[in-house]
Amino acid sequence: MYCASSAQIDKAYFAATQQLAAELVANQIEVVYGGGAIGLMGQLADTVLEKGGRITGIMPNFMREVEWAHRQVSEFIFTETMHERKQKFLEGIDGLITLAGGSGTLEELFEAITLKRLGLFTKPIVILNTQNFYAPLKEMLERCIAENFMIPRHRDMWTFVDRPEQVIDALQNAPDWTSEAIQFATLR
Ligand code: AMP
Repeated sequence: MYCASSAQIDKAYFAATQQLAAELVANQIEVVYGGGAIGLMGQLADTVLEKGGRITGIMPNFMREVEWAHRQVSEFIFTETMHERKQKFLEGIDGLITLAGGSGTLEELFEAITLKRLGLFTKPIVILNTQNFYAPLKEMLERCIAENFMIPRHRDMWTFVDRPEQVIDALQNAPDWTSEAIQFATLR
């Protein structure tokens, strides 16, 4: 799960994170996240742990050194670099969920979409659009398709949902995607 490190955001984002975290645990879904203790990352970890679920943090060493790591999360993978961390996020997961966030969340999301376009990552990508936060992103992606920077088929790479209770269903029913995507990755 990719989500915000900021703690200064509307409480609706915390409520959505809490609700989704509880649903993931109830469905025995293990969570992998950025390892942070504050913001939506902190909320996610707090709720998963409180509900008795499993969560793994993946964090570069320099963030551990400045004590950003969540103290109650027992499973951690520490990496040398941010690049290695992003790579590890996508290894062995069954799907990716993006909650509201800033530059870090957006970067991580777009790397996954880019790899998916190239057929190098094939798992579902679900974007939780709490408070319509991602409306401009949705519009930007539609613009990319409208202006032939991508094709309509690329729309199958992501699913936007408005509410946390729609996330698991969206993960389970995401359109199939395979490494064959490389065949239609570019528009000639
Ligand atoms: P953002 O969406 O910009 O808040 O960024 C979330 C991502 O930013 C995380 O996955 C990290 O790459 C990084 N990050 C920023 N602050 C923290 C923090 N306090 N703890 C962990 N990761 C952080």
